[in-house]
Amino acid sequence: MALKKENLKQAVLWEAGEDKKVRCKLCNWRCLIDEGKLGRCNVRKNIGGVLYSLNYDKVCSANPDPIEKKPLFHFQPGTSSFSIATMGCNFRCEFCQNWQISQAAIEDGQIAGEPITPEQIVAAAVRSGCKSIAYTYTEPTIFMELCNDCGRLGKESGLTNVFVSNGFMTREAIDFAGEWLNGINIDLKSFNEDYYKRLCKARLGAVLDTIRYVAKETKIWLEVTTLLVPGENDSDEELKKLADFIVNEAGADVPWHISRFHPQYKYLDSVATPIETLERAERIGRAAGLHYIYLGNVPGSKLESTFCYNCGRLLIERVGYHISANHIENSCCPDCGVKIAGFEL
Ligand code: SF4
Repeated sequence: MALKKENLKQAVLWEAGEDKKVRCKLCNWRCLIDEGKLGRCNVRKNIGGVLYSLNYDKVCSANPDPIEKKPLFHFQPGTSSFSIATMGCNFRCEFCQNWQISQAAIEDGQIAGEPITPEQIVAAAVRSGCKSIAYTYTEPTIFMELCNDCGRLGKESGLTNVFVSNGFMTREAIDFAGEWLNGINIDLKSFNEDYYKRLCKARLGAVLDTIRYVAKETKIWLEVTTLLVPGENDSDEELKKLADFIVNEAGADVPWHISRFHPQYKYLDSVATPIETLERAERIGRAAGLHYIYLGNVPGSKLESTFCYNCGRLLIERVGYHISANHIENSCCPDCGVKIAGFEL
């Protein structure tokens, strides 16, 4: 079916080149796209020398979630976040937990999803009592036009905006979103270039640059997540390098979520991450100097809760995504008074 460009949303962050080629500047692939062709993410198309977003009006998920599910543990804890996604991704992770929507074969213009407008999304978020809109489940960079319109409208309505991202966006994209983006959780999947190349068809260096840039040059609240895949990214040496990177390049206050892997999608010849491996990673992160480390996908673990890094006081009690108590007072530990980093704690 031919796409009618008058029904499409023109893309943001691209430039025209010779022979009606366009250069997309949203993520670090920086695709140079011939007329009539798609970018690597399959959801941006060059039509007549102009880049269009094919998924702007194709929302495939829209529902309230606990903000803890993103996971963001130091960002408006205990609130709900209206979580939206469209299909597509710029990575090809073999173990993607949302592969049905991120990796589905996308026929040109045949992207599944509902034409929900930014106005309707913001109204639904407010109506359902959410404090924020989360752009999540798939990579938000590749539906930036929808994020931008929702983000601006949401901000006007008093909502905050958060990304759950693979961190492969360009600096231009971060600056573009910076006007309305308040928080981000970036996957730092490994500290090994070969891992990114082999298992994600991606590159590590650009993700490290994004983490550095967000932490040092923006006001966006940052948390980092690492999925530990047995035998792939769980050596002491690699975990130490990764934790040292967060401490030295982003800061000891950046929460690190260490997440348990379960076999899925194309990566099935493995076991789930042993709990001892997750606990070993936590000890390595603690020794590196990180203040806040959490275990994900381990229901009932003590390491779902927030403790004061200075005196050890239990601050936010969590069971799964549910918060049973928040003892933080004016962003400080009630016992020793040390400041606890975060956004509206
Ligand atoms: S978002 Fe990334 S993958 Fe998609 S067209 Fe732009 S540069 Fe290419």
